[in-house]
Amino acid sequence: MTVAAGGNAGATVTKRLALMAMQTQHPALNLRGWLMVVIDLLYPVRCGGCSDAGKGVWCESCNDAVQQLYPPLQTRQLALHAPWEAIAIDVTSAARYAEPLRDGIHAFKYDGTPALAGPLAQLMVEAWVNGGLQADLLVAVPLHPRRKRERGYNQSDLLAQRIGAQAGVMVDTKVIRRVRYTDQQALLAHDERRNNVHGAFKAESARSNGKHIMLVDDVFTTGATLSECAATLLSAGARRVSALTLARAG
Ligand SMILES: [Zn+2]
Repeated sequence: MTVAAGGNAGATVTKRLALMAMQTQHPALNLRGWLMVVIDLLYPVRCGGCSDAGKGVWCESCNDAVQQLYPPLQTRQLALHAPWEAIAIDVTSAARYAEPLRDGIHAFKYDGTPALAGPLAQLMVEAWVNGGLQADLLVAVPLHPRRKRERGYNQSDLLAQRIGAQAGVMVDTKVIRRVRYTDQQALLAHDERRNNVHGAFKAESARSNGKHIMLVDDVFTTGATLSECAATLLSAGARRVSALTLARAG
């Protein structure tokens, strides 16, 4: 649907009217066309970064303003907690968690704009290529089923699906699941985050055994969630765990 794909709202309406002029022979198509025009006029697409209307869900100037990270700065080591404290995982982040990306991620997660997955995943694909990243499997940090129902989608999974398609790596949504409903990490103090996610995940040994798994998440802040997921996957037999996030705070 053009509403989700973005584009200039005025041009979209004009295109629709032109299309409908060709479809006047068919009353059903005609009615549907008129309904789409009304939807476009009532709900103009706004950019998730700057809220400007008529430039798509993610406009060119916001995309240009993203503070992208490049090797070697795009990758940081994250130390895991016991019993994996001897292991540090590579966490690669596509950009700094700053405006306009911060607003874009907020719109993507909380304002019900799943169409942002396309342009935001593109930044992660660039980080993947620039960093020469490799993995056997891409695995999104899972949401609890209740949270996924509330939100309608797992934003990290939408990113993983697009990265996987472009990087040619399989995405497995059944490797790890969240078995405990937790408070949102973003609402907690940094020292509370590890306790909040402790024991929150369960991994499938049959799917993770011997694999190099690349976790995919939206924001890398304290790393408490990534650390807990990585420890869970290593316990289930994963050979190696790395992570790719869209943004990194700090
Ligand atoms: Zn914008």
